[in-house]
Amino acid sequence: MQVPFVDLSAQYHSIKNDIDKAIAKVIEETAFISGKYATAFEKEFAQFCGNAHVIACANGTDSLEILMQAMGIGRGDEVIVPAISWISTSEAVSAVGAIPVFVDVDEFFLINVDLIEEKITPKTKAIIPVHLYGQPADMPEIMQIAKKHHLKVIEDCAQSHGSAINGKLAGTFGDAASYSFYPGKNLGAYGDAGAMATNDEALAQKTRMIANHGQLKKHEHIIEGRNSRMDGLQAAILSTKLPHLNHWTDKRIENAAYYSEVLNSEMIEIPLLKPGYKHVYHLFVIQSAERDLLMQHLESQGIGVAIHYPCPLPFLACYKDRAYKTEDFPMADHFSKTILSIPMYPELSKAQMDYVAEAIHSFFSYH
Ligand SMILES: *Cc1c(COP(=O)(O)O)cnc(C)c1O
Repeated sequence: MQVPFVDLSAQYHSIKNDIDKAIAKVIEETAFISGKYATAFEKEFAQFCGNAHVIACANGTDSLEILMQAMGIGRGDEVIVPAISWISTSEAVSAVGAIPVFVDVDEFFLINVDLIEEKITPKTKAIIPVHLYGQPADMPEIMQIAKKHHLKVIEDCAQSHGSAINGKLAGTFGDAASYSFYPGKNLGAYGDAGAMATNDEALAQKTRMIANHGQLKKHEHIIEGRNSRMDGLQAAILSTKLPHLNHWTDKRIENAAYYSEVLNSEMIEIPLLKPGYKHVYHLFVIQSAERDLLMQHLESQGIGVAIHYPCPLPFLACYKDRAYKTEDFPMADHFSKTILSIPMYPELSKAQMDYVAEAIHSFFSYH
């Protein structure tokens, strides 16, 4: 048996007719950039994500950067980010001229809220919590800290479409949320795409302006902006997929529950869940002290696995000037040696998950 790490083609084939029709229509109407398909998707996604305003853009890295720019964050400012994330989270901070300040993670792989305040200085302007792997960060606590220190909060929802805390959607706690629709994300386009979401109308206008050359009306460039718009094709594809997202998320949650049932080796740890938190399992991340050998074994059995991420952000070569030590981020350092992402997607079958579980158990019994 083969169990690929992700299977985007299985999902395409389940909705092929609708997708093919949507693509043909955009081409027929030559609605290639922004336009009516992007506007329609913005409205639909606003409904889904619980924010009054959604502004479609080119990708989920631009959306972080544009939000910070619109908030006036720039040179000399500091922005707090978790030590484990995809590089976009810190890269976007540097891109606006500010400095990313890293905070270690907790046992849920999420920014450790007890360590945030000690990193706040007079230069701190914002916190970017990341709802990593699909589980929300502790937003009630983060909002309290932000309020006390007058900081902006941008939720990085690139991995957490539809996740929630006690029924309140992640992405509706902070000043704004940033979404990515990279193909492998829980809601994925067929190319790059992203969006900004907020309830703040002035912020929405500003981001829309920045993402489209500083104009709200054609040829009225109120400021210098940039080119970060969503393709009509991507928008039409996302609109076609969005009605299926809740069902796909339910399947991910069912699959995670099944994994948790069949993965009963004491040699691995399965993801910890916070009570009342809705985890949408963008990734299913297990831990093992023998991660590298386990990884090789699973690959040899035809199972796709990956590490998210092999190196915590502060230790990446691009931040070597900061000379961080592993003791500065002990949890992130530990996880980078133990974490392993195993196949997780809505179309995964029980037989495939049984096969993954057997391969994991056989590794520990013969080894
Ligand atoms: C994917 C991702 C992004 C950026 O998304 P792109 O659309 O690829 O630019 C940002 N933050 C996190 C946590 C991500 O996983």
